[in-house]
Amino acid sequence: METAVKTVCPYCGVGCGLVAKIRDGRITGVSGDKEHPSSLGGICPKGAQVGEIVATPNRLRHAQLRATNTVPFTHVSLDRALSHVALRFREIIQRHGPDAVAFYVSGQITTEAQYVFNKLAKGALGTNNIDANSRLCMASAVSAYKLALGADAPPTCYDDIELAECIFIVGANMAECHPVLWQRVKRRAARKRVRIIVVDPRRTPTAEGADLHLPIAPGTDVALLNAMLHVLIAQGWVSEKFIRAHTDNWESVRQIAEAWPPSRAAKVCGIDEQLIHRAAFWFGQAAESLSFWAMGTNQSTSGVANNLALINLHLATGKIGRPGSGPFSLTGQPNAMGGREVGYMSGLLPGHRDVTNAKHREDIARIWGVPKRKIQPTPGLDAVGMFEALEAGDVKALWVVGCNPLASMPNANQTRRALERAELLVVQDCYHPTETTQLAHVLLPAAMSLEVEGTMTNSERRVSLMQPCVPPPGDARPDWEIGARFAAMLGFESQFSFASASDVFEEHKQCCADVYALQMNGISYKRLRRHAVQWPCPPGVSHGVARRYRNKVFATPNGHAQFQPVDFRPPADALTPRFPLVLNTGRRASQWHTRTKTGHVAKLNQANPAPFIAAHPDDATPLGLKDGDAVRLVSRRGFARSTLRLDDGLRPGTLFMSFHWGQLHDEHGCANAVTHGEYDPISRQPELKFSAVRLEKIS
Ligand code: SF4
Repeated sequence: METAVKTVCPYCGVGCGLVAKIRDGRITGVSGDKEHPSSLGGICPKGAQVGEIVATPNRLRHAQLRATNTVPFTHVSLDRALSHVALRFREIIQRHGPDAVAFYVSGQITTEAQYVFNKLAKGALGTNNIDANSRLCMASAVSAYKLALGADAPPTCYDDIELAECIFIVGANMAECHPVLWQRVKRRAARKRVRIIVVDPRRTPTAEGADLHLPIAPGTDVALLNAMLHVLIAQGWVSEKFIRAHTDNWESVRQIAEAWPPSRAAKVCGIDEQLIHRAAFWFGQAAESLSFWAMGTNQSTSGVANNLALINLHLATGKIGRPGSGPFSLTGQPNAMGGREVGYMSGLLPGHRDVTNAKHREDIARIWGVPKRKIQPTPGLDAVGMFEALEAGDVKALWVVGCNPLASMPNANQTRRALERAELLVVQDCYHPTETTQLAHVLLPAAMSLEVEGTMTNSERRVSLMQPCVPPPGDARPDWEIGARFAAMLGFESQFSFASASDVFEEHKQCCADVYALQMNGISYKRLRRHAVQWPCPPGVSHGVARRYRNKVFATPNGHAQFQPVDFRPPADALTPRFPLVLNTGRRASQWHTRTKTGHVAKLNQANPAPFIAAHPDDATPLGLKDGDAVRLVSRRGFARSTLRLDDGLRPGTLFMSFHWGQLHDEHGCANAVTHGEYDPISRQPELKFSAVRLEKIS
């Protein structure tokens, strides 16, 4: 008999609802869930093939153990592996203190798993050394929302696409990275006049579908956005009434904008001045303007400034807190937003709290049932700092959950040195081998999203419940359960006595109970079994709140949004005659992150079969290079090789390479071998979108 089970797509942050058909314990088909309010039945090729990722030959079915990373693994029971890890963690903490251990977790695991590991590190072990791959993804947006609006809460929802007259997309390739949302934008454009502006150095499929493309020089977003504000002010398109009543610090932002006439910005951005005027005109004159952004904006040493400059446009025009208008960050991963709720980055605590705030530590210690001194008052290591500390020998043990940092972190050669130096590397994953599992001492088999019950929150703050479609293979268990079993072995049975994912969610909810921006009191598994819910969701509000700040009261102490003056700073990696070109890394439509999931799906591999290095003919031809040549990129950190693809959609002086294919595909084919770990000073998000390189032919 065939049954249908509702789940959520485990790929991008659109968070499409899926319906899996199950027959004889196997997934026989997947379709879009027409009743899911975020995706309305939409599905893209990755989502449609999701049933294939469950039974791939690289599933990790059993725990494995070895003394050094040069000898073969031995299969052991999960409990035997966990007790070994518990013993080693105890020894290391006894010798070096709790900050000698660290956790690197993921925006792809459930909120419940993120919650348990955050509690394990900060509440049980007493270290804030837990960070997530969201640091590479959304950290700049988190910081900017907090600075400008007082809370990490996107004010908008997907339905705003239907109401916007101008859709302004900055540093986001929605057509490939958020396809179902992009289809919605295109459907809206086909029905009613809406102007789509895309800012991207590359003529991406998204830029090709826009009415206006601004191919700015990489890393010059702030100059462009300040110049747009300059035009809005000069034309009188700002809302003095909104600024006076609902914001602070306008004068400082106005002064900076006045220093950025479009003529100046055009030179810095390397585009025609008229494009800036037209973008400002369309943004300013539209009754409602909606801005999307993603990695192109966030992965920068000016990531927070980029975000703030964009939010400043909305505050200056009053285009925020009303249907069809507002700033809207797109999350790259399916549950980056859940991680932000539980505060799984090194400076955060659950419910949008901070480790530096004594009251916040006290609130959370009470809920966690641990002494308040247990939670350390200073932020732990962020992602880049964690791998640096591992290489330096300050961190001795690292536990990686649900991600593949050797392929995805910047400066892969440094990451390899760090992982090789670890006294204990524990990797908890659904798959093996991955680049990272190959260096592990302990492998822990995780059940994947289609095999567990748990929640994920998408870009529009909508919490969805995943139902298990099939049982996990072998000894694989839900991530939260592995974390809780380990905590119990360390003596924290009572604090981690969760019998189900729902128990974990109820405790997480307590952490969010009195948080103005993040109320979850009205959400329960019972309700989520009926439909997905957006937070904030006070009791009695069945579907939650679609749009934030409708009353123009922001989450700041005085209720006013805070303008933040930001100015242009050049990217960190200097261009020189030896390294004259800019490498921009990114994604392809049919692959996902480092291909641990998609690498075994035939249809997806047919669509995007192999990596390549894209270059503009103006850069390649003078070097004697032609399409299909074997080439390599060389930076100050290392090199990456692949096949050349000529592409006149690139801005001359820039190159593009996808980061999907890591060292397992080609020992010297990892794009991140050339990227660097310089990061934004506030968000500590690394600048993956700008690396100085040269292009060479491989003879
Ligand atoms: Fe999955 Fe994203 Fe495609 Fe939706 S758009 S099906 S969430 S990959």
